[in-house]
Amino acid sequence: MGARIIDGKESARQVKAEVAELVAGLQYRPGLATVLVGDDPASHTYVKGKRSDAEEVGIRSTHHELPGDVPQADLEMLIDQLNSNDEVDGILVQLPLPGGLDSERVVARIDPAKDVDGLHPYNMGLLVLGRPGLRPCTPSGVMRMLEDNDVVVAGRTAVVIGRSFLVGRPLALMMASKGVDATVTMAHSRTPQLAEVARDADILVAAVGVPRLVTAEFIKPGAAVVDVGINRVEDGLAGDVDFDSVREIAGSITPVPGGVGPMTRAMLLANTLKAAKARRGA
Ligand code: NAD
Repeated sequence: MGARIIDGKESARQVKAEVAELVAGLQYRPGLATVLVGDDPASHTYVKGKRSDAEEVGIRSTHHELPGDVPQADLEMLIDQLNSNDEVDGILVQLPLPGGLDSERVVARIDPAKDVDGLHPYNMGLLVLGRPGLRPCTPSGVMRMLEDNDVVVAGRTAVVIGRSFLVGRPLALMMASKGVDATVTMAHSRTPQLAEVARDADILVAAVGVPRLVTAEFIKPGAAVVDVGINRVEDGLAGDVDFDSVREIAGSITPVPGGVGPMTRAMLLANTLKAAKARRGA
């Protein structure tokens, strides 16, 4: 029997409905500012999607576009202006930035209270300390999907393949945090015997960027498998998981597309609402 499909579109729809309802009850409209630098077509598509999501749930979105050769100082000046603009609750700088720009410095320039991508060192620090703060969207989306689909995490063994600051590292921290209580291994490109390590997992997350790296031999029978990967391949999009072989062994699995991707977008809205309420005091 094939694994149960964990439907990211359905969870995302729920998150958006919750945010829309809460936004409708506010005395103000939360504001999200998007910043797009250069002309990468994928980045344009992502930002367009994020802006229309925002409008859909009643968040006001303002958009700022800069040329790919913009000086670092000009980009940072825009961030400063958005930081001091009281109508802006969340600032989203679409990454990656074109070569020549220092994205770490740009992210660090964002007011941590408006850091709706959850990537500012201050918010990362809060995550490490287990204190409340804005969390990165993709790992938050994964946690929410697991919860919505009744995947038990507490007391289980989780293996996260990937240690990026965007996905793998924060997700491993979230899973190991107090109250979530998984026992977590963070594997990466230098992990020996990766398939064997992965086979220990009750919950296996692939956040790697290598199409179909995770095959049936990585899977403990009945495991929950979360595929974060989005890779462009000849015949379209592929995850990091070889869906067809893995679904025969796994207990549940997220598809690509229609899995983690929609959740990442939805959690940006949840973060914008959270930032707005925290900043405005209600
Ligand atoms: P990254 O390149 O920053 O990090 C990849 C990680 O995978 C690294 O820590 C590396 O050590 C590890 N790795 C690389 N090759 C490996 C191998 N052969 N075996 C084991 N580990 C290996 O990438 P990222 O930003 O974390 O993104 C990972 C994937 O997730 C990409 O496909 C990306 O497009 C996708 N992604 C999807 C979403 C979403 O919303 N679904 C969001 C962010 C990223």
